[in-house]
Amino acid sequence: MAQLLSNEEINKIQRSVDIVEVIGSYINLEKKGKNYFGVCPFHDDHTPSLSVSREKGLYSCFTCGHTGTVFQFVEDYENVSFIEAVKIVADKAGIKLDLDFKENSKYDSMYEAYDLAIKFYQNNLKSKQGHAAHEYLNKRGLSDDIIDEFEIGYASPDSDTLTKLLRAKEFDEEEMINAGLINRGNSVYDLFRDRITFPIHNAQGKPVAFSARIYEKKDNEAKYINTKETPIFKKGEILFNYHRARNEARKLKQLIIVEGQMDAIRVYASGIKNVVATMGTALTDYHIRLLSKLNVEIILCLDNDSAGEKATFAIADMLENANIDFRVLRLVGEKDPDEYIIAHGVDAYRDAINHAVSYFDFKKKIYSKNKDFKNEVDVTNYINSMLEELSKKDDDVLIEATINNLSEEFSISKQTLMKKLNSFEKKTPVKKKTPVINVKEQKERLSYEDSLSELLIYYMISDVKYIKLYEQELSYLNNEKYYSIASDILAFYLKYNYINMADFIVNERDSEYLDDIIRIVDNNYNLELVDNDFVGLIEKIKEISVVNEVDKKLVDISNSTDINEQMNLLNKLMDIKKKEV
Ligand SMILES: [Zn+2]
Repeated sequence: MAQLLSNEEINKIQRSVDIVEVIGSYINLEKKGKNYFGVCPFHDDHTPSLSVSREKGLYSCFTCGHTGTVFQFVEDYENVSFIEAVKIVADKAGIKLDLDFKENSKYDSMYEAYDLAIKFYQNNLKSKQGHAAHEYLNKRGLSDDIIDEFEIGYASPDSDTLTKLLRAKEFDEEEMINAGLINRGNSVYDLFRDRITFPIHNAQGKPVAFSARIYEKKDNEAKYINTKETPIFKKGEILFNYHRARNEARKLKQLIIVEGQMDAIRVYASGIKNVVATMGTALTDYHIRLLSKLNVEIILCLDNDSAGEKATFAIADMLENANIDFRVLRLVGEKDPDEYIIAHGVDAYRDAINHAVSYFDFKKKIYSKNKDFKNEVDVTNYINSMLEELSKKDDDVLIEATINNLSEEFSISKQTLMKKLNSFEKKTPVKKKTPVINVKEQKERLSYEDSLSELLIYYMISDVKYIKLYEQELSYLNNEKYYSIASDILAFYLKYNYINMADFIVNERDSEYLDDIIRIVDNNYNLELVDNDFVGLIEKIKEISVVNEVDKKLVDISNSTDINEQMNLLNKLMDIKKKEV
């Protein structure tokens, strides 16, 4: 994206807001000493680990290491781009940005067209033409409030009413065809006709597509048609209802995933608002990242048929590999949450959610399905499947409990079961947590010199006087990375004549070393700055670099066979030695 705002402008916004107030509008903060503390929204937190410093203009979680400026917080909390986060923060501070952000997104006219189409279809639903569709929705138990909240509408049977409207509003026809709203055959026509329309939004809440369904039986017509994939609609990036469910999920620390939009709407309409639906039955890496970031328990509640069962395995495997907390809910009796709530009421559904089981228990149930335990082959198959599953676990308690159970249930000795268990190759599950920003985890083993350099950098970002000392006394660091960061700090100071951690981080947001800078800030967050310590740091770094140089020269001398060159190197070595004193 092109630079919409200069760093100066962004930092002006940053300085004019109170980070405590902004973060405090998302999570509860309590003052303790100089800082404010709250429950971190970026990991599964129970005690307040997130500290916000008004003085530094930064926040930092001492458990998961999530650290950054007010913009980073909003970016990750709201799941928006950096520049959108800046806009949100500016809005909160009542700062009017001169920029028209609308002009800057190349897809904004598509979003606008969707907004227009949504309103147009909503009006249709309330008109005489939409009466039958409206009645159908009411009959299915969707109140007018829910119809409004989900912006459900109706596309009339006419072939080009939306086309005409878009034309009248001067939308570019090619672009609208690209956006999947209209199509061109012999003439240009509307895509959806005589169907109920459900808008689909992306994670940021922007409308990007429609799902349109028939409301009376029609031969040769698909029950649902969806917008094709477009530049703004990638099925693999959508979880239906995510933008509405996100905050409730954070509050309840739980998100329910169902299979169909109608299910999500039904569950939501029943007052359980932390629910999303997959688009189709698969999850993508994008979804996993989104869910990982949300950091809440997932309840996987797919359809109660064989396709749903298969999808449950596929999705559960992905969740497990990503180390996301989840349980599985298989409904009994009805096919999906929609039918289940209609048949048994929402309280029964809530109860079912509370009784969702672990993935392991779910597998147990599936493996024992249709098995006749009087038949040895069935018993053997069942036990083998269970043991194979068990061999993937590294939970000793679970292993022992399962072995005990199987042993009792089928009167097979524990030794035999253990022997069989050990015959399966021990596959340790790939525990790959998609890191949010997991700085704490990678507490790297730094060399002595590097750890000194990191400390030096922390001092420099904290106070101008240390930048000046660095410039006078050292102005060079051996490690290219640290040298580059220190040079950037110096350049920031020379340009703006001040230093501020939060502003510097904003300044460096495209730097390849941003993660390092944030790690350095995080690692030293509560460090007390002492002038003498800094002077000592400089001395030590100098010493090390002299020692390094001497070592290098000694190696050079011993490698050289040319006597003149050796003499030359020796002289250089003497010079270095002189510096040492
Ligand atoms: Zn945290």
